[in-house]
Amino acid sequence: MARYASVVVDIAHEQLDRSFQYRVPPSLQEKIRVGTPVIVPFGKSNRAIKAYVTALGDVPEWDEGKLKEIEEVPRHLLQVEDQLVALAFWMKEQYGATLIQALRTVMPVKEKVRLREARRYRPAPTAAAALAEAKKRKNCAARARFLEALLREGSLTEEEAKKLPVTPSTIRPLLEQGVVTVERKQGSWTVPEWMGGGAQPPDAASGALPDLLHRPAVTLNEQQKNIVDSLVEAMDHREKKAALIHGVTGSGKTEVYMELIGHTIAQKKQAIVLIPEIALTYQTAMRFFARFGSRAAFVNSRLSAGERYEQFLRAKNGEIDVMIGPRSALFTPFSRLGLIVIDEEHENAYKSETAPRYHARETAMKRAEMAGAMVVLGSATPSMEAYDRACRGEYLLYRLTKRAVFQSHLPQIHVVDLREELAAGNKSIFSRMLQEKMRQCLQRKEQIMLFLNRRGYAGFVSCRQCGQPVCCPHCDVSLTMHSDGMLRCHYCGYAVPTPGRCPACGSPYIAGFGLGTQKVQEMIGRLFPGVPALRMDMDTTSGKEGHQKILSAFAAGKAQILIGTQMIVKGHDFPNVTLVGIVAADLSLYTGNYRASEQTFQLLTQAAGRAGRGEKGGDVVIQTYTPDHYSIQCCARQDYETFYRREMAFRRMLCYPPAGYLMEVLVTSFQEEAAQKAIEQYAAMVLHAGDDAERIGPTDASVSRIKDQYRKLMYVKAQNRQTLIEIKDKIELLYDELHRETCCLQFDFS
Ligand code: ADP
Ligand code: ZN
Ligand code: ZN
Repeated sequence: MARYASVVVDIAHEQLDRSFQYRVPPSLQEKIRVGTPVIVPFGKSNRAIKAYVTALGDVPEWDEGKLKEIEEVPRHLLQVEDQLVALAFWMKEQYGATLIQALRTVMPVKEKVRLREARRYRPAPTAAAALAEAKKRKNCAARARFLEALLREGSLTEEEAKKLPVTPSTIRPLLEQGVVTVERKQGSWTVPEWMGGGAQPPDAASGALPDLLHRPAVTLNEQQKNIVDSLVEAMDHREKKAALIHGVTGSGKTEVYMELIGHTIAQKKQAIVLIPEIALTYQTAMRFFARFGSRAAFVNSRLSAGERYEQFLRAKNGEIDVMIGPRSALFTPFSRLGLIVIDEEHENAYKSETAPRYHARETAMKRAEMAGAMVVLGSATPSMEAYDRACRGEYLLYRLTKRAVFQSHLPQIHVVDLREELAAGNKSIFSRMLQEKMRQCLQRKEQIMLFLNRRGYAGFVSCRQCGQPVCCPHCDVSLTMHSDGMLRCHYCGYAVPTPGRCPACGSPYIAGFGLGTQKVQEMIGRLFPGVPALRMDMDTTSGKEGHQKILSAFAAGKAQILIGTQMIVKGHDFPNVTLVGIVAADLSLYTGNYRASEQTFQLLTQAAGRAGRGEKGGDVVIQTYTPDHYSIQCCARQDYETFYRREMAFRRMLCYPPAGYLMEVLVTSFQEEAAQKAIEQYAAMVLHAGDDAERIGPTDASVSRIKDQYRKLMYVKAQNRQTLIEIKDKIELLYDELHRETCCLQFDFS
């Protein structure tokens, strides 16, 4: 029974880091826990405000007599902020983070909200005289450049002025002198600029609930209808078990989500739809607007903090019913939350890379539990975690086995063994089959997507003759090339010098895989001169709308071939694509991660799913050095079940998730010794944690130094998640006591 409580106040503002201590009156001692909302007197005037308890203790940090007392615990139902704060506490507990980090994750910080404003400059009648003046004077080159362009063009937008280049400091005095005028336009909230600039949703003007809501654009097929009926029944009877929809690519999952959202809104509730950022295209946005009009809104990572806050405010005020966005949209402050949809549930993007390193799927389950909402997951290639839970009856499981569009069929998949190509004297990166199919496809004036699997591209070494990667003798993962010429295992630290010959077959053709999208584009140029090919990768999509521009150009038929990395496989729907070539399918098999096979299967299946979306059918050519690997075999046969069983057997054998739980403990420090000492002390603690915990490492992280900080890590495996959380708590205590000054500590659960 604690006598003192530390609280944070006003969490939507930025002063989160400060907490204040209060006395806990005896009457409230039973009720107050960490995370409890309380009303406290605050400031000189002692106005009563809401705060949240962050810590409890028996020692006053201050003169006891000066401490104020907590007034009360609000009795009304949990408000949405309270729920989100409780969620932050849960996240801190589950994933390891500071309270501030957790709170900042769930609450968009209120900054001075500045609506993005589009500006257009126009010359005033005096502009010509001013230009002549500027030309005469020294040090007025920028001013002259701006005025000249302005008079020539008639008007300039802010961006155009920036490109001249002209800085605001040049323009400001001209505005003040009245030589230039400015026209301002408020940016549109409902359709963010990147989604198509200024396009309005169909009923934006009326703002009314569209009756489209009850008039779906398509008639659901039998399979879709069964799922909707069953889930609506579950929702109405408050069976809040989560559901997983395993539906092949293009089977109409999105239509099912929209139907469920429609039902949710009809029940006066609200829905959150999570979509991996990369699949959040203009196409998707328009489908949701067509259905829900301005009752739907979007957030994405390109919005500023102020813009995000503004969107969340609309949600809180009940102006919208559907929020669509990447993982952070999970924290939309809907007070009548009824449904959370997670599309492409298997995507890595649902895992946060900064503390708290939460997973959106697990966190959605928790939020839904607090709000009494339902969670619906969907994927063509469910994660091992989700499918395992569905198989164990934790989730309801549904299937969509056919493509939804009439006469659209799943594509024909061909596997080509690259070792045989080399043996037959074909040294090109394109197999004979892929070349032949490309030629036919181009002749038919249809489109081709070439997918280059670049995940794991960094540093994995394999043999061009037999296809074997160089593996760790202790861990069954491939070794990674480091800049010092050594090959290392990221799991146990084993290291060998890079061999000159393949350890398996003795061939000298052993090398890191140096294949990039640019190289593929060059090859295409040589093979099919004059055929326009677009490239989509990190280099070509750097601009704000880089993505969208390339996709639109391809959709409009401006190129016949699109070459790209992971980016091109997500969610895009191009009916004229009848051939998908996977240039090197193996690359992601050897990332030195226990999830490598799963990720490969998912990527290949999603990439294959891009072919034959229209009525023309399609072909997929998978080029690989390991045609017999089950990731590739199961993809070729479109057999998720078998893949799942094979992979699950592997996970069980080695106790990897979802057969067990895994925690990564990462210590970083500018002082290598300090980091080493800390990780060793934590490692020693695991030894005493009991039988359930098994330790791997400690070892250097795969990138052992980033920005001059040394990185040491270990893994802890356990059958029980609670065991890991207890170990984490103990490590955190020791860290606070001994290593806080010199090291940073991070946890990552999977
Ligand atoms: P998924 O989300 O499973 O990839 P979508 O919902 O995007 O599938 O559907 C794929 C395509 O099929 C879309 O063009 C969609 O409009 C269409 N579609 C979905 N359901 C039906 C249906 N019942 N009848 C006709 N077309 C449909
Ligand atoms: Zn070999
Ligand atoms: Zn190893």
